[in-house]
This record gives sequence, C-alpha cells and structure tokens, in this order.
Amino acid sequence: MSNESDNLKIPRINSVKEFFAQALAIEEEASERYNLLADQMEVHNKAEIAAIFRKMANIEALHREEVARRAGDRLVGGEQAAFSWLGPQGPEATDFEDVHYLMTPHQALQLARFNELRAVAFFESIASTAVDAEVKALAEEMARDERDHVLWVDDWLKKFPEDTEVLDDPDPPVYSE
Ligand code: ZN
Repeated sequence: MSNESDNLKIPRINSVKEFFAQALAIEEEASERYNLLADQMEVHNKAEIAAIFRKMANIEALHREEVARRAGDRLVGGEQAAFSWLGPQGPEATDFEDVHYLMTPHQALQLARFNELRAVAFFESIASTAVDAEVKALAEEMARDERDHVLWVDDWLKKFPEDTEVLDDPDPPVYSE
C-alpha cells in the first residue's frame, strides 16, 4: 500500500549547515519542477496555468535566495537533496523530466499540491526530531512557508476544479499501460 509519505526519507539533521544545504537543494528543485510544469502547460497552449507555474518557480527561486542569504557563510554547496519531487505515476517515475503525457491544468496542480505537502511533511518531521534548537526553528519556518504554498495551490485548484477537457497531445507516449 502506498501513502503520502512514500519515498519520503527524513535525514538526520545535526547542524544548521546541514539544514541549509537540504533546504537550499529542495527550493532549487521546486523551482525547476515548476518551470517544467510551466513549459508543459505552454506546450498545451495553457497560458493561464503556465503563468501560475512560472510565478511559483520565481517564488521558489526567491525563497532559495532568502535561504542562501540566511545561511551566509554557513552554506555548503553541492549537497544532494534528501527529498525529491515525485512524478505523477508515483515513486517508480523518478525521471520527472522524461514524463511526456497528457497533463491537464488540474492534474498539474494536483502534482504540485502532492509535492508541496511532502515538503511540509519533510520540514515538520525535521522540526520535530531536531536536537539543535536553531535547526528546529528554521525547519518550523520552512514548514510554514511550504504550508502557504499548499494554500496557494488549493486556491488555484478552485479555478481548475476538474478535468473538463482533453488536451491535444503534441507528443504521444510511445509506451502503453
Ligand atoms: Zn514550496
């Protein structure tokens, strides 16, 4: 059985340095994913939802800069994120970039929501297990930010409540299910 914490491994974060490395890697990935979703929507001529995702990509990029600024000289580079976005097909679909499928704005938003929720769970879990008080406080702050992102996505889902249309397929998948 699967649940929302699939593939969500919570690393033991022992120092502020380690925390910043993880937070930075996660924000960077989120920004990339939103840009990919925006690209995908542009391919389907969905300008409105593409603009929303582009905006989220910028917000995550600004968030990344803010984290880097807070970290200052406590920043270590090149860290691999312990957390990674899941593709729409679940944990097996690790190759997010290669996903060429029909995705409606609603599905794209659900994918974003799912991963924002995972980010919340990730930071909440770090906050609840952290021994270092500063790591705990920083993780709580990040969890709050990520909860805001979930609320935004929820708002946009009201605009795209369900899949009322079928998108044109510019690049049909070569595989079948
Ligand atoms: Zn986020």
